[in-house]
Amino acid sequence: SGSDVSVLGLGAMGRELARALLDAGHRVTVWNRTAARAEPLVDKGALAAGSPAEAVGASPLTVVCLLDEDSVLDVLDGVELAGRDVVDLTNGTPGQARRVAELVRARGGGYLDGGIMAVPPMIGGPHAFLYYSGSERVFREYRALLDAFGAGHYKGADPGAAALWDVALLSAMYGMFGGVLHAFALVRSAGIDAREVAGDVGTWLAAMGAAAPEYARRIDTGDHTGDVVSNLGMQAAGIRNVLATAEEQGVSTALLSPLADFMRLRLAGGDHATEDLTGLVQLLAPGAELA
Ligand code: NDP
Repeated sequence: SGSDVSVLGLGAMGRELARALLDAGHRVTVWNRTAARAEPLVDKGALAAGSPAEAVGASPLTVVCLLDEDSVLDVLDGVELAGRDVVDLTNGTPGQARRVAELVRARGGGYLDGGIMAVPPMIGGPHAFLYYSGSERVFREYRALLDAFGAGHYKGADPGAAALWDVALLSAMYGMFGGVLHAFALVRSAGIDAREVAGDVGTWLAAMGAAAPEYARRIDTGDHTGDVVSNLGMQAAGIRNVLATAEEQGVSTALLSPLADFMRLRLAGGDHATEDLTGLVQLLAPGAELA
């Protein structure tokens, strides 16, 4: 008996990971705190384990995808890991990933951390990708198996690295979704359905997102002033109109006003009206004085 890979955690994401492994032809053992969630996977050929220890013991590799790293520490508590490899795809901070790595290694296991850049229906599809960091040996040994989830990008031996890349992308996403929610609230305040503007919002975000490499160049080189097409003085006036329009319409400015505050702060801090929006990173850098 035994299986190729075990999966701990069968929430919305974990069960897609298990399904992708089954679809790729692997023998899969699954475990979930709420046991009933294993049933649809058992119907597809998975073996159900009665405990995390049993699941880890069934396969050389265990993929973990739980709510947060605290649940991972709970679930791995007391589990024999010597000679086993763990790929932890649970979202967390770099520091949390390093703590889980330390625990797994102290018990003789190999540890690869990962961040999933996909929602569950994307798993195994062409747009899913994952960041990995930690044991390069584990990454190489199981690369073909892990490819069932999406393309893998290895970010180095520091187990915290994948979480940093993951959280960077999530940070950009949440900034974007905050704006999208505000935009929809604004049009709805005028009696327009969100779906009427949704297509244009998507087109606009794709066009504006294309500026990321140019922003990155400015931020890496510190050149915030050469060839500026949208200067900060103009943008500060523009975002004042964004906030004033929300106020006219009775829509909350709570999600967007912090960015306007940052523009004001940057302008107040010196001769920055002709630079690009990218100068605002100076206010975000570690140790920046905000007061
Ligand atoms: P769900 O809420 O659907 O599932 C959570 C899972 O964690 C369940 O299996 C749950 O078990 C288990 N769990 C929670 N707390 C504990 C605990 N203390 N002990 C044991 N098991 C526990 O979340 P998702 O599956 O969507 O997310 C899982 C991970 O994947 C998260 O870290 C998330 O950030 C990440 N992720 C999710 C994405 C998404 O869009 N869904 C996208 C990218 C990453 P039970 O069934 O018993 O409640």
